[in-house]
Amino acid sequence: MTATDVVVVGGGLIGTATAWRLAQAGLDVTLVVGERSAAASRVAAGMLAAVTETTFTERTLLALNQASAQRWPSFSAEVVEASGRPSGLREGPTVSVASDPDDSARLRTFADYLDRQGLAAQRLTSRECRALEPLLAPTVRSGLLVPSDWSCDNRVLLEALTTAAQRAGVREVTGFVHRVESADGHVTGATLADGTTLPTRRVVLANGAWAAQVDGVPTVPVRPVKGQIVRLDPGRFPCPGLTVRAFSRGNEVYLVPREHGREVVIGATVEEQGFDHRVTAGGIYELLRDARQVIPMTAEYALAETSVGWRPNTPDNAPIFGGCALEGLSLATGHHRNGVLLTPVSADVAASYVLTGVLDDVAAPFTLGRFDRTSEPALEVAR
Ligand SMILES: Cc1cc2nc3c(=O)[nH]c(=O)nc-3n(C[C@H](O)[C@H](O)[C@H](O)COP(=O)(O)OP(=O)(O)OC[C@H]3O[C@@H](n4cnc5c(N)ncnc54)[C@H](O)[C@@H]3O)c2cc1C
Repeated sequence: MTATDVVVVGGGLIGTATAWRLAQAGLDVTLVVGERSAAASRVAAGMLAAVTETTFTERTLLALNQASAQRWPSFSAEVVEASGRPSGLREGPTVSVASDPDDSARLRTFADYLDRQGLAAQRLTSRECRALEPLLAPTVRSGLLVPSDWSCDNRVLLEALTTAAQRAGVREVTGFVHRVESADGHVTGATLADGTTLPTRRVVLANGAWAAQVDGVPTVPVRPVKGQIVRLDPGRFPCPGLTVRAFSRGNEVYLVPREHGREVVIGATVEEQGFDHRVTAGGIYELLRDARQVIPMTAEYALAETSVGWRPNTPDNAPIFGGCALEGLSLATGHHRNGVLLTPVSADVAASYVLTGVLDDVAAPFTLGRFDRTSEPALEVAR
């Protein structure tokens, strides 16, 4: 088999977008897709929630998330141009709401934190919340409007990226990379589960939650975090106009409407269950219960789909980019709960590392090497 410049492992958003960028730069690219129907990129809700998804302990990750959020408008335009298909981007805001005194206090603390970080968010009264989204329950006490947290129909995006990559010359191979081959500390090829070897000097590992399962590579500290999620069809009933996130009696739930109004995505459970693929009665019950507390109308919607996906998580919840001890192997994995949001910046960073051997500044804190520094909490160093 003739050699290819680079093999990208994984046909989710990260692998497909990276392969596209590399082909745009003139490389001969082979993308081994695995099983797209199992990709977290198809299961996800598609929130681009740099602000509402942030937590007090993830300030370094916040900078990366914001950098990606800023790239979304131009990335989306490029995807549309290159694929001739919609990108799925929806430039509508997110509102976070709270229903009881404890939830309201929690939302206030979060709003104070956003103020300290200089992040734009507008505090809302109960009345203002319902003026903005009339479907909200009267029990909603307070809210926070975040204009910059948009959403994207991730399934539409994955299809568009697949087309863009194919048009740019990316060769797709169905199957799984079983092993990365090497000699004298340098990559020499990628062997598929059927025994075929693709000769190459460069491999990008972008296979999400499965990154630790490929033989012949250094240890990659990525584990699957299971998420169950529900898709409802409003049918003839009104659909929410914007993304709603809620603290509802201590639980967190979100409702993400699609532009066409025929789908509302409700998520998601967070479970340390490995690759358990079961949709459970309890998981779906809790999501539907919490969604109904926030938007009672959801009880009238038709149940369209329940699914399970696996977030690729790392010990500090942030992705891994750049090289490793094996020359020619680079990583673009570990995107946990932000992989849709992080697609634009990840593709740029991963492709530029392959092309130049240098990691962009924006990704400098996110190397595999940070996990060697066991004496310090890696991501809280850069305050
Ligand atoms: C329930 C849920 C909700 C989410 N909601 C959001 C959200 O609202 N916003 C957001 O930004 N993020 C969200 N995420 C996270 C986001 O989906 C992921 O971070 C992102 O999709 C990861 O993309 P990926 O391409 O790295 O991995 P994936 O999309 O999982 O793709 C990996 C691909 O690699 C393939 N593969 C595996 N092993 C191999 C192999 N050996 N060889 C070849 N291919 C292989 C797999 O079959 C798969 O197709 C959510 C995730 C879940 C589970």
